[in-house]
Amino acid sequence: MAETQVARKTREVRIGGVTVGGANPVVVQSMCATRTIDIDQTVAQTHQLARAGAGIVRIAMDSEKEIPAIKEIRAQTKGITLSVDLQENYRIADRVAPHVDKIRYNPGHLHHIEKARTIEQKVKWLVGIARDNNLAIRIGVNCGSVAPAFLEKYPGDQLRAIVESAAYHCDLMDQFGFTRFVVSLKDSEPQKVVDANRRFAERCPDVPIHLGVTEAGLPPDGIIKTRIAFEKLLAKGIGETIRVSLTLPNDRKHEEVVVGHKIVDDVHAGRFISVPEFGKGLNIISCPSCSRVENERFVELAQQVKELTEYAARYRITIAVMGCRVNGPGETDDADLGLWCGPSTVNLKKKDKKIGFFSYDDVLGRLKVELDKLISARAAASAN
Ligand code: SF4
Repeated sequence: MAETQVARKTREVRIGGVTVGGANPVVVQSMCATRTIDIDQTVAQTHQLARAGAGIVRIAMDSEKEIPAIKEIRAQTKGITLSVDLQENYRIADRVAPHVDKIRYNPGHLHHIEKARTIEQKVKWLVGIARDNNLAIRIGVNCGSVAPAFLEKYPGDQLRAIVESAAYHCDLMDQFGFTRFVVSLKDSEPQKVVDANRRFAERCPDVPIHLGVTEAGLPPDGIIKTRIAFEKLLAKGIGETIRVSLTLPNDRKHEEVVVGHKIVDDVHAGRFISVPEFGKGLNIISCPSCSRVENERFVELAQQVKELTEYAARYRITIAVMGCRVNGPGETDDADLGLWCGPSTVNLKKKDKKIGFFSYDDVLGRLKVELDKLISARAAASAN
């Protein structure tokens, strides 16, 4: 695949000590996977990511209990640009804002809190906080949690729903006279990431884009999935900041940043991968984990699922492994088999139907039973 880089010039957005967009180099960023209330571990991981070359480090927060922690984390990471992911609790934004440089909100997570307030009122409140605290904003749209109003407006066309949702939030920013924002449109399927970002870039050409393939999974497959999307987009000048999401243990989390820089350098040098057979067989999706991860065995579980299912590599089957009960149930609905982690058990699903809860030790055996049934059913269907 030989594509030439085409310059795309967006507006510049200053985020703490870095500037994204305009003629600035692509900023590689990453996210802590430690529990935010564990100050020592989160500070250590923030430094680990920054040392590897992360221009921005994101920290997840969705509870009031984490507010004292972010204050202390800020005090111990001076000079590092911090972003906070408000996850499903945008209401803590005012108390988090003094300690970070950027807030990320998900347009798909605004409707179910404070139902009496309109989306417009909520976004206006967030913009006011960003302005008062000298922050940037990321409008972070995710295919796994699209705002229901847009799914209803564009039935059967999820791609259009996410692009229109992002564009609507950009219009709100314009309406409120706020320009320090970036947008992301993420999915676990590389081609959807390419299509969504291309469409959005045409629709809102001056808005800097944060690229990401969610739940890309374990290396090396997670790296290949990410490259498939990022290469196509970066080569067209789309993507002013990037995050590579890999399932990695905490002591290797900085590899996301190393991989991110390598992709950017390769694209600039015209080096592209060629993997024509990739994606035609078994597809394992797994999240990069974050402060919500329910059990530290999650990464090991994802690795074990990969090893256990190697015998099914040629089957077009998707298995999703997610680290928590908040996003796990929804993010596994589209997979043929899904596992999401609780504190002491793992929930096994077949599409959106629950199979049951199993201990971390027992779930692999049951997964194999279900995978074998699926393979047999496929074989019987193709024989008929
Ligand atoms: S699925 Fe849960 S643990 Fe994994 S990244 Fe998403 S929110 Fe974090």
